[in-house]
Amino acid sequence: MRIDLHAHSTASDGTDSPETLMMEAAAAGLDVVALTDHDTTAGWEAAAAALPPGLTLVRGAELSGRWYGGEPTVGLHLLAYLFDPGYEPLVAELTRVRRSREHRAEKIVALLNADGIDVTVPEVQAYAAGGTVGRPHLAQALIRRGLVATVDEAFAPEWLGRRYRLAKVDIDVFTAIRLVNEAGGVSVLAHPRADVRGHIVPDTLIAELAAAGLWGVEADHIDHSTADRVHTQLLARKLGLRFTGSSDYHGTNKTVRLGTFTTDPLVYEEMIATATGTTPVTGS
Ligand code: AMP
Ligand code: ZN
Ligand code: FE
Ligand code: FE
Repeated sequence: MRIDLHAHSTASDGTDSPETLMMEAAAAGLDVVALTDHDTTAGWEAAAAALPPGLTLVRGAELSGRWYGGEPTVGLHLLAYLFDPGYEPLVAELTRVRRSREHRAEKIVALLNADGIDVTVPEVQAYAAGGTVGRPHLAQALIRRGLVATVDEAFAPEWLGRRYRLAKVDIDVFTAIRLVNEAGGVSVLAHPRADVRGHIVPDTLIAELAAAGLWGVEADHIDHSTADRVHTQLLARKLGLRFTGSSDYHGTNKTVRLGTFTTDPLVYEEMIATATGTTPVTGS
């Protein structure tokens, strides 16, 4: 069984439609793929309807979380799986974050404009195509202007990595874990040691999250060194958490391929036995 529990579609900042993503997952030899778009469940229906025979879809999302308990606050990503997409308190939080992302994109465009770079809000919105807007969509605009060659370059410090990086309003991470659990889902802390994506999540905070109902941690991820992977696996064992592996596939917005890292089938079995908010679906 090849299980990849983290992939993005055009419902957020991936470049494959949910339908195409399902085809790609089957072509990559996966048995199980999770759709985890940023702060949205908008791709769920299309993905479920397009499943090739034998491929199982785990419906999920990657929530923009933040720990507000210290100075500085710590931004983090929380993978949520198999939750009820109609659970109103969670829906409200996701809507709020997506709005904040739109405002942030407008403000980043204004900053770029002030420096004489003539990208426009409608253009960035067109790249997002109705999905959750993110910095990769702003990156597309910079590429179109010939200012950078790749999305990766657009994340350099002189661009979206620092100079034109603005905060958005995230979900308090303890609230996020509670809401996912209330919605019948399970939550997995994404890439906790991926400092290129933000800050490293301290082990002491992960211990607090575990005590607050976190279900697992993503250990095997392209942005983790071998030492980070081993460290996270051992930490999971120590805290009674499960650990996962996944690709964090974004289509052509990143170079990583589907199935680059995978999750132990036993962990997957435990996940589907635990979650009650929605079920995995298999193509027939
Ligand atoms: P945002 O969610 O708008 O803050 O943008 C962050 C998203 O951009 C995450 O999903 C990352 O996967 C993606 N990202 C971050 N750094 C890079 C990079 N160097 N190259 C491509 N994508 C990136
Ligand atoms: Zn992303
Ligand atoms: Fe992430
Ligand atoms: Fe991701």
